[in-house]
Amino acid sequence: MSLYRDEGVVLRALRLGEADRIVTMITKGHGKVRAVAKGVRRTKSKFGGRLEPLSHVTMLCWQGRELDIVNQAEVTDTFKTVREDLARVAKAYTVLEVTDQISQERHANPRLYDMVVGALRALDAQDPPLLVSAFCLKVLALEGSAPVLEECVSCGARQDLVAFDLVEGGVLCRSCRRGRAISPAALALVRRILGGELGSALAEPDGPTVGEVTDLATEAMEVHLDRRLRSVRTSPTA
Ligand SMILES: [Zn+2]
Repeated sequence: MSLYRDEGVVLRALRLGEADRIVTMITKGHGKVRAVAKGVRRTKSKFGGRLEPLSHVTMLCWQGRELDIVNQAEVTDTFKTVREDLARVAKAYTVLEVTDQISQERHANPRLYDMVVGALRALDAQDPPLLVSAFCLKVLALEGSAPVLEECVSCGARQDLVAFDLVEGGVLCRSCRRGRAISPAALALVRRILGGELGSALAEPDGPTVGEVTDLATEAMEVHLDRRLRSVRTSPTA
């Protein structure tokens, strides 16, 4: 077995026997990794609470055939503000869930990794209303599945784009319209998110346009993943 050092964010943790846990992480250099943390559930564990979902850690692992073994873990960031706010926890879990679905085991995707850490840091610092939607749209773009926004996906018209069809993967003009309606303001906002104006888009205050983009981004991600996103649908206060 070889030992490696990497940094990662814990996506999931599963109980294993009496005292151990299998943690699923996205790492910077090794993609998605599943590793056993031995004795992690004992009160005097050397890992303490460091290997909980959402923890950003630097660790030393033994590489195994299927499962690695965590040898050491140091916390880089606990995202304390996120953990203390149920609404932010729900958003963070959506980010983790999407990442878990998209990332591939032992296949490094440093861009995705940086986006995850960036999204969690922004959520911890400011909680921008569009954060999760922007994350989903950027991930779709990274996957090569960004929606077509400049012209009608059916006829190529560039004017009067009034609808958005998730299966077709983009906007539609008035004559070809199907799917959901999209307002000019929401279309402009999605274009800003994907067109290099993420910072200013994230400063957008909550309101109907942000709500429209949120619904669209969630559904676009769900169509891409072919499943419902659990975290988005489960209200943490319910
Ligand atoms: Zn058209």
